[in-house]
Formats: sequence, structure tokens, C-alpha cells
Amino acid sequence: MSAGTDPSIPYKTYLAEAEIPTAWYNVRADMPKKPAPLCIPGTGQKATLDDLSHVFCTELARQELDNDTPWIPIPAPIHDFYKMYRPSPLVRAYFLERALGTPAHIYYKFEGNNTSGSHKLNSSIAQAYYAKAQGLKGVTTETGAGQWGTALAMACSFFSLDCKVYMVKVSYEQKPFRREVMRTYGAAVTPSPSDTTQVGRAILAAHPGTTGSLGCAISEAVEAAVTHEGYRYVLGSVLNQVLLHQSIIGLEAKAALDKLGVKADVIIGCAGGGSNLGGLIAPFMGQKLRGEADYRFIAVEPASCPSFTRGKYAYDFCDTGHICPLAKMYTLGSDFIPSANHAGGLRYHGMSSILSELYDEGLMEARAVEQTSVFEAAQLFARVEGTLPAPESSHAIRVAIDEALRCKRENKAENIVFGLTGTGFFDLTAYQQFNDGTMKDFIPTDADLARSLDQLPVQPDENA
Ligand SMILES: *Cc1c(COP(=O)(O)O)cnc(C)c1O
Repeated sequence: MSAGTDPSIPYKTYLAEAEIPTAWYNVRADMPKKPAPLCIPGTGQKATLDDLSHVFCTELARQELDNDTPWIPIPAPIHDFYKMYRPSPLVRAYFLERALGTPAHIYYKFEGNNTSGSHKLNSSIAQAYYAKAQGLKGVTTETGAGQWGTALAMACSFFSLDCKVYMVKVSYEQKPFRREVMRTYGAAVTPSPSDTTQVGRAILAAHPGTTGSLGCAISEAVEAAVTHEGYRYVLGSVLNQVLLHQSIIGLEAKAALDKLGVKADVIIGCAGGGSNLGGLIAPFMGQKLRGEADYRFIAVEPASCPSFTRGKYAYDFCDTGHICPLAKMYTLGSDFIPSANHAGGLRYHGMSSILSELYDEGLMEARAVEQTSVFEAAQLFARVEGTLPAPESSHAIRVAIDEALRCKRENKAENIVFGLTGTGFFDLTAYQQFNDGTMKDFIPTDADLARSLDQLPVQPDENA
């Protein structure tokens, strides 16, 4: 059987090493209405550089607050590290197109080709670099599924920084191999909630036997940073600085498409906290905001954790212990924890403030999908395109397939681009449930969501 590939467009497009972007793109600079600022709980005051510098590295706090500088140069040591696993390929999914019988052209940007198995290394290496440059001893963080903890452990070992990871207890127990990768790179991994922090002890006292949550691990990691001299807290998603670093994905994707002479019509990404999607769409969204080109952007989230499609756009706590600044975002409430049978990542209760603002202004669409349909898409993708996708990434695959099937019905040869954020080798328990036919869908009721949404904090005055 012939592959049916078009010789003018290769299966894989790689930029040359010399074409790896040398600056990140800050989409906030082109947003007429800026994302809402972080606020201090209680006073409702805007968080200042000084407030944020107690928790984050100073340069990262500066990036967090910078709504105006469009291009931020990538420091040479980070750029050198990027060369180990970048540029990442832009793949034309010829075999998926053929399996679907669609006239659409499907492309994906593959970010799983490094040991962390995901795009998270793009930001962890930047965050570790700034921590080292500031002369810190180490950093603390949380990890859920484990990709972020692994990416940060890799980055810290490269720059000889200490790395303390609070890992959601249920993942710590279910994913021992993730834990061993982190330990191999020198990180100390503690199951959360733990008795090593005040907030962890309080959560354990209130909910004995809890298997933890991301919001709770964040609280512990922040407390560990602010109570240890020479440490700061780092976060792998949601924050403006993380979307900035992840713009490398979109910049490379756009450069490759430009080389091929291809203009995307639809750009799709899965959305947990929004970092890969925000990074992938950044330069395209910039064009849209400047009136230079138009695109459809689609955020894909799990039906069991539907921040965009069923959440509220409001200021909320970022963590369970309520020790972080408040962020305005689409949120399900900081007490929201997705059903235990929800398999793959994307379980944070909130969403990036940048993407929340763009979505609120109608510049981006969002769709919620159920996990069995996500794994059906993952299975088809694995069988025809070869790569075993991460469950998170498979949310984007699901909607890319749905869009390609729409193109088939409408007989349209649209160009569909999606982010394949990582590989699924550590997610085989979820694949096992799918293969055994025991995977269930769970959609929270309005009453379930109301319980956590009723706990939103007093709203700060944004214009103050
Ligand atoms: C963390 C992760 C995601 C979701 O996080 P975002 O910040 O929304 O990008 C998606 N895919 C993979 C493989 C991940 O590790």
C-alpha cells in the first residue's frame, strides 16, 4: 500500500539547529485588554514585584508582571540546553488522514522527544537557569502525573540545584517509575500531603487518609520554599512566565509552516493549566490580535474537569491551603477535585489568566471531551502514526480527528495543527483500563460544581 504522501510536503519538517528561536514571544504585549493581575488575598491589592519575589525567582517574577515587552531574549545557556532536544519536528499526519479518509491536512508538533516525555522541559530549564543565576540553593515544586517533576529534576541536575518535589500521594503510589526517574536526576520526592509542612499537617488532620490533590501539593511546595533560606517555588503551568517559555513551541511550528508555505486554519491543544496551548498558539494569536491573519483556536479539556466550558471567570485561590496570590481565571473552585476514575492529567481547577482572557473575549473556543472517546482517539493515533500518546495530548488528538471528520462531511481541505505534548509510557494503568473495557466516564453534576464554586473568595476590585 502506498503512503500517499505528497512529495512537496515531507512527513517531518525539522528546522535547522541555527533556526531555533533566540527570543520568546510574549503575547500579552499584543493583547489590547491585558490578563487580570495577581492579587493578594485579604487586601485585594495587586501583587507587586516585591510580593512575588519572596515566592518566585526575581527574574521570573519580572516576566510574570511584564505585559509589554513582545520579545524576550532566551539566555545562551538555556538556548544551548534546548539544542539537546530541539527543534522538535512538525509532522504531517499522512497516515491518520488516510485512516480517516479526510481531505483535511493534519499536522502535529511533537514535544515528547526528551526523557521527561513532555513539553514541560521548555519551561523547567528556563526556571532552573534563573534560580541558578540568582545564586539560589534550590527550588521546590508540586507534581501530579509526574511530567513536571521529572522535567524540573532534569533541569536542576543540569544546573546543580537542589530540587524538592511534592508529588500528589495517589500518583506517588501509582507511578513508582516516575518517582525513580526524578530520584535518578537527584530530586527529593515527598508524597503530598505530608507531615513535613504545616499546611500538609493541617490538611491531613482535616482529611485523614486523603490521597492528595494538586492544589494541596502546591501549598506544601510554596511553604517549603518560603521557610527554607535560598529556595524559591517554581510552577510548571498556568503562570504567564510559563506560557512565555512555551512560546518556543508555537514559534518553531510557525517557522516550519511558513517554510512549507502552509497557512493553518484550525489550531488545537489540550488544556490543563494552559501552558502548551498558550505556547503553541502564541505567535498565531499575535497575528490575529494585530489583524494580520485569522485562525480558529480550540482548547480541549476533560469533561471531568471542565474549567473553560463550565467554570466561572473570577478571582480564585490557586492552591488548597490559600497561601498563593489570587488569580483571575476560568475556575471550578479551589476545592474542586476531579473524580478518582479520571485517568489522565489536566486536573487543575483553574486555567491560565492569559487564555482565560482570550477565551472570555471570544478569540478562542473550548471543548470538553469524555475520557473513553479520548482513549479511542489515542488508540487510533498509536496504531496509525506509531507514537503512543500521553492521555493529556490525546484530548487534542480527539478534537483534531473530530475537526478532520467535519472537513470530510463538508469536503474541505483545511489545515489542522495540533500539539502532541508527550508520550504515554508512564500512563499504562489508564491504557490498561481502556483495553480491559473498565474505563468509565464521569461528568460532574451542576450541584458538584456549585459546591466548590460557592467557595470563591471575596472578589478584589480590578480597577483599584
Ligand atoms: C502537563 C501536561 C499537559 C497539560 O499542561 P498544560 O500546562 O495545560 O500544557 C499536557 N500534556 C502533557 C504531556 C503534559 O505533561
